[in-house]
Amino acid sequence: MLVLVYLSHRIILTFKHAIFSLFLSFFHPPPLPRARASEIKFEYDKIPKSTVATRLKKEGTIKWQRQWESTDKGALCRSFFPEVEQRLQVNLPITPAFTAMVSGHGKTKSYLHRFGFIDSLMCPCKGGDQTPEHFIYHCNILETQRKIMIQRIKKSGGTWPITNKDLVAKYL
Ligand SMILES: [Zn+2]
Repeated sequence: MLVLVYLSHRIILTFKHAIFSLFLSFFHPPPLPRARASEIKFEYDKIPKSTVATRLKKEGTIKWQRQWESTDKGALCRSFFPEVEQRLQVNLPITPAFTAMVSGHGKTKSYLHRFGFIDSLMCPCKGGDQTPEHFIYHCNILETQRKIMIQRIKKSGGTWPITNKDLVAKYL
């Protein structure tokens, strides 16, 4: 009888120990074995996400540039921004008036005439069709403002006349 009691006590203790060990191993798993430096395998064909992002952005810009050069739309805007990458690097003070000038989609007579709202494109200065480029380079009504702009451009080392591209890229 005494032997049976002793054996059952031992069995219970062993069972408790097994449960406790299981509990410990669950909440405190043993540390993973450390790899030796000689065992570490470097995979050189893997690329960081930032590199992938940079490459995709570059490919996108190249594709965008190709489309920008091949389309027959947006000729005026392209004369101001011929290179997509250059445009993306510059933070421009974009206003409705600026957008109207570089896109040609403003209340100029040429734009209104294009959609049949008025009969004549002629600028009130009688110096030519009223287009954004007429405003910038030729309009007699804006002679004073143009003189100020030319003075500022020349003062900072530029020349006049100037291309649309340089006007936006260097003097905006
Ligand atoms: Zn004019």
